[in-house]
Amino acid sequence: TIDIQRAAQLDRESLFHPFTALNDLYRDGPNVMASGKGLHVTDIHGNTYLDGMAGLWCVNLGYGRQDIVDAIAEQSARLSFFHTFNSMSTDVAIECADALLKRAPVPMSRVFFGASGSDANETQIKLIWYYNNLLGRPQKKKIIARWNAYHGSAVMTAGLTGLPGMHALFDLPLGPILHVTAPHHYRKAAEGMTEREFSRSLAVELEELIAREGADTIAAFFAEPVMGAGGLIATPEGYWEEITPILKRHDILLVMDEVVSGFGRLGTYWGAQTYGLEPDLITAAKGVTGGYFPMSVCYISPKLWDVFEGNRDAAGLFGHGYTYSAHPVGAAAALATLRAIDEDRVVDHVAQVGPYLHERMRAVLGDDPMVGEIRGRGLMIGIELVKDRATKEAFPMAQRVGRQVLKAAADRGLITRALGDTLVFAPPLVIDRESIDALVTIFKAAIDAVRADVA
Ligand code: PLP
Repeated sequence: TIDIQRAAQLDRESLFHPFTALNDLYRDGPNVMASGKGLHVTDIHGNTYLDGMAGLWCVNLGYGRQDIVDAIAEQSARLSFFHTFNSMSTDVAIECADALLKRAPVPMSRVFFGASGSDANETQIKLIWYYNNLLGRPQKKKIIARWNAYHGSAVMTAGLTGLPGMHALFDLPLGPILHVTAPHHYRKAAEGMTEREFSRSLAVELEELIAREGADTIAAFFAEPVMGAGGLIATPEGYWEEITPILKRHDILLVMDEVVSGFGRLGTYWGAQTYGLEPDLITAAKGVTGGYFPMSVCYISPKLWDVFEGNRDAAGLFGHGYTYSAHPVGAAAALATLRAIDEDRVVDHVAQVGPYLHERMRAVLGDDPMVGEIRGRGLMIGIELVKDRATKEAFPMAQRVGRQVLKAAADRGLITRALGDTLVFAPPLVIDRESIDALVTIFKAAIDAVRADVA
């Protein structure tokens, strides 16, 4: 086992961290976790934290669940690996695919498995291009995403992701990717615009983009139901009523990226249900195994599937897949997770405690001079900190207020995430009211602790 005193040093000497500034790591990192139980994780020094982020929006059922652990152990012992290439399959992969199809928000024809949200969204792009190629319209290829979106880190999906900071380092996007304005009323609407007026303006922007590019060149529109990593942004009133008819009219596929929202986070099983949407493709990951095993899922609707099946003589092999597509241990973890979500009535629970989290946060911080906006839906909440509430003036970047609050919260036993100066929470879905109270109280104390410094 690792020498606790040397762990941080050894980390800095051996591990290249994702999404980490080396200066931050060398100055005050890493924070080394060692165990988890329920809503809490414990670091190697024995400090325990309430995990307000469910890891990375994924540990939906909490840590150390024996039913999922057992399912993983049993499957590892019975058949640790077999694949689904070249017409091979496994009993557990079949059972898992069937269980997932039964839980789809709209009728779906097939699922395609991967190991991460990024690889699943890469698959979606290929499915979309394959579909249009089979229909004899290979030029219908461009993909629209929104600024502030997060769709992954691979080359195409990092391009779809609407975070310019992620583009600049690698000269992305590559390929036929277009971005439209994020549905971010607080930051993007013109002064005095209502949410509905803002939604209308986004529809006009989309129509104009399609007219400029030509509908015959645009294949799909990607969207998270509530944007996560790009700032925790829930859509304004009227948004989807404006957008979906435009997509339909121009035969543009709707891909819902439910990597975070799937499996109950918004208080419905799927985000598509929260907003009454009928996506052509759905991407899921994270919560499908509650973070116990890397697994992702692309749901394929009959609209695409019927074309794949109808053209199977001409098309031959679908030349795409990953070694770990439908990994049997992942499938077993997913089956145990899906069962637990049903048996524990997790989605109903989120429908109760999600509004409670928003209510408590508003009661405690709604009038705080440092809080510009509290936003989100279900068990996704973002608190944007500002220098001046009236003008929405942000703190100077160099002050790194978000990071200061994050550290003050960690010092008090609470894990949050700082997206710039927007602090976000997406706790395990099984969080109880008492722990929500604790989360809000500690978070307020963290803000109070940095208040004098940043005023
Ligand atoms: N899509 C969304 C909405 C996400 O939030 C994420 C990751 O946070 C991804 C895709 C990418 O998933 P992964 O990190 O598993 O590749």
